Amino acid sequence: MAEVKSAEFKKASGRALRDEKLQHSLEHVMEHFVGARASVIENDFGDENWEAMRTRAAAIKQSTLEHLDYYLDMVDRSVRRNGGHVYFADDAAQANAIVLDIAKRNGVKTVIKSKSMVSEEMGINHILEREGIEPVETDLGEYIIQLAGETPFHIIAPAMHKTRQEVSALFQEWLKTAPTQDIKRLCVYARDALREKFAAADMGISGANFVVAETGTVCLVTNEGNGRMTTSAPRIHVVLAGMEKIVPAVEDLALFLRLLPRSATGQRITSYNTFVGGPRAPSDEDGPEEFHLVLVDNGRLNLLRDEVMREALRCIRCGACLNHCPVYRKIGGHAYGWVYSGPIGAIVTPPMTNMKVARDLPYASTLCGTCKDVCPVKIDIPRLLLHLRHKVAEGALGERSTTWMERLFVGQWHGAMRNRKALEGKANLGRLLTRPFARGGKVRKLPFAPMVSGWTASRDFPAPAPRSFARLWREELAHDNAHPNGTEQG
Ligand code: SF4
Repeated sequence: MAEVKSAEFKKASGRALRDEKLQHSLEHVMEHFVGARASVIENDFGDENWEAMRTRAAAIKQSTLEHLDYYLDMVDRSVRRNGGHVYFADDAAQANAIVLDIAKRNGVKTVIKSKSMVSEEMGINHILEREGIEPVETDLGEYIIQLAGETPFHIIAPAMHKTRQEVSALFQEWLKTAPTQDIKRLCVYARDALREKFAAADMGISGANFVVAETGTVCLVTNEGNGRMTTSAPRIHVVLAGMEKIVPAVEDLALFLRLLPRSATGQRITSYNTFVGGPRAPSDEDGPEEFHLVLVDNGRLNLLRDEVMREALRCIRCGACLNHCPVYRKIGGHAYGWVYSGPIGAIVTPPMTNMKVARDLPYASTLCGTCKDVCPVKIDIPRLLLHLRHKVAEGALGERSTTWMERLFVGQWHGAMRNRKALEGKANLGRLLTRPFARGGKVRKLPFAPMVSGWTASRDFPAPAPRSFARLWREELAHDNAHPNGTEQG
């Protein structure tokens, strides 16, 4: 499985915030996605219709999840009826072993891949390389990050953090192309390099946006045509799909194919919607000879078993919650430390990987609720974040969720809030202790790292007023506000 680096979340976030180039890219690209989505929804449907579509989509996905065993069985039978093979993998290691076995049995030397987040979870490229099989990403963004040796920065725009200069430098290094800043030229370079790979590959690995239970059809939504090449040119096609990708019927796609591109990129429809029904039939002129569908759990059952978290599996990976999230928009995708980032990453990473390692992610949110408002399948992300925070606070990690310093402060706070004199005494003490560090009404840097200094590490702290409100009231205002009948107002 891909390494989980979520324990580094705070440090990585700090690095991202200090990276000016990254901040510029994030603001520019996110703003484009947000604007395009809003205008296409308004022009095509209006709020009321869009809301009704989201409600229906949420209901379809939720009911499929509630009866997942039934639909998994239906997928199995449908794909076999079409002449394909179905596998169920408990985890990344098992899924990798299945793919490797298919590749070795068929003497595969080169594998072309279209975008698949499940394959990122599995870390399959390293596994294939280790066995002497060349994996080649064919989605342009994925190809760029493969050359750079990085992981996707965003669910739908994996290389959005790369400038054209950086892409040009990568192509010069790996493809020996001439330097250029012209994006079209860079695309031509990539296309030329990939065309050779498409022609040579024995196996194509794709993801799946949807798997239709009643027909066994795999639906892929892409903009570059690479998905269609991957699924049709090589003699073997392997689909890697999370087991939550199932929709019951082909009719359901009419709804999801309206919701997905509009939510993701603000497009009415993506350039290529590919429907794969299995291996080539005897009457077909082309298409793969073998078709394999690998349905992957890899932690999804942890979400399914938890009645509150289950709705996270409704996700159709549109990326809208990332684009609108004030936290993602400042720190980007790599800080989250695993395959999924932004609000959806914050709720699925801890249960799918390791609660201890990813314990900071549920706190990476202002709980503003925008993610919930834009989600096409109405996942209540803030509620799920709070659910995970409760789990941490209740000791789900088998340890105290707070430091001794936090407990000391909260204990003091608790005592002070129950007694007026104690409150005033503590406030006066705070005023006295912070006075040496106050300048111009602000405390910019507190000492005693890291226990106290954390408060001013990334923001200024307002300096306490010279006199408390209670004292001000006693000394000056009480007299002015004395009521004629002798009682005070306020
Ligand atoms: S949680 Fe909702 S908004 Fe976020 S990626 Fe998934 S479907 Fe899209």
